[in-house]
Amino acid sequence: MKVGILGATGAVGQKFIRLLQGHPWFEIEALGASKRSAGKKYKDAANWIEDVVLPEQVKEMTVKNCEPSEFSEVDFVFSGLDSSVAGEIEKAFASAGIPVISNAKNYRQDPTVPLLIPEINPDHTELIKKQTFTKNGSGWIVTNPNCVAVPLAISLKPLYDAFGIEALILTTMQAISGAGYPGVASLDILGNVIPFISGEEPKVGPETRKLLSTLEGSTLAKPHFPVQASATRVPTINGHMISATVKLENPPSNFEELKAAYTNWRNPIADLDLPFSPKELYKLHEEEKYPQPRLHADAENGMQLHLGRLRKAEVFDVSFVAMAHNTIRGAAGGAILNAELLVKKGFLK
Ligand code: NAP
Repeated sequence: MKVGILGATGAVGQKFIRLLQGHPWFEIEALGASKRSAGKKYKDAANWIEDVVLPEQVKEMTVKNCEPSEFSEVDFVFSGLDSSVAGEIEKAFASAGIPVISNAKNYRQDPTVPLLIPEINPDHTELIKKQTFTKNGSGWIVTNPNCVAVPLAISLKPLYDAFGIEALILTTMQAISGAGYPGVASLDILGNVIPFISGEEPKVGPETRKLLSTLEGSTLAKPHFPVQASATRVPTINGHMISATVKLENPPSNFEELKAAYTNWRNPIADLDLPFSPKELYKLHEEEKYPQPRLHADAENGMQLHLGRLRKAEVFDVSFVAMAHNTIRGAAGGAILNAELLVKKGFLK
């Protein structure tokens, strides 16, 4: 399939370009960015920050304006657009009949737009049928969650299924790549921790609850558990870490039962053979010093969820640490996996 990338010059756009090299189903056909970049060769428009050489295939491609008429050759687009412009541009593409797989926050809470993690809520793709961007349904939007909600929802899902969740407190330790480029000033973050990330905490509860919702008919029945999140920026490069403590509705009677919630959990897309699907979704670390972003963020091509320090809590019921690659599992890689699921389900053809 021919794909376009909107916001191709940004941090997430660059990750799309890197991850799509050699993809068995998707080929980059068009790149779009702002008027500042449009008309330039990609190599001149983008400040390439990936730690591999800029792929030959895109170097000489001319960056386009993010207008649907300039993307008539593509089957669908990935969006890594800045949220200040993503709302209007993504709507214009969907209305022109071009499906949009987005990383931006603008449509995440729209009741007709799936907020999708294929292993967690694959059935939410049914919401697409309610979208009215085009009369015949050919244009639609699917979003992936914020880079904290991704590891949080994945790590909570087996607990939610086995025991139910009543409340949750978490602190995040978010890598600097999550702030895009140039992101946080080096003098602010080197050897330091910043205990606030603007706009981050309010997204965590609503996105996690939407992800864990049950599809009833054609609407989502959302859980109501409160989420108290503290977001911090730490001087790691990739891999967002979360320390969470959870109050369960029906707590397990012992640790083995708790651990079994993860080992017995069945991945609903395991048999689909999606190219970006990790072989093992959960890496359960027994050693107390793990997981660590530098050691584990890239495991299984950055698509694995790392869980450690699983233990009974003195306050509430269960504590754990979770970690996943923020710009792969939490952004571009997650969006590519979404597109793969949408191909298998026949929404993309
Ligand atoms: P970024 O590095 O600032 O890139 C933003 C992109 O949007 C650039 O390609 C930029 O093009 C383009 N853009 C800006 N204004 C535009 C306009 N008026 N018309 C068309 N294109 C325009 O941001 P990022 O970190 O990649 O994040 C992109 C999106 O993904 C954001 O919505 C962010 O919240 C979300 N996200 C990021 C992460 C992460 O870990 N970084 C994780 C999950 C989700 P120019 O280069 O031409 O300005």
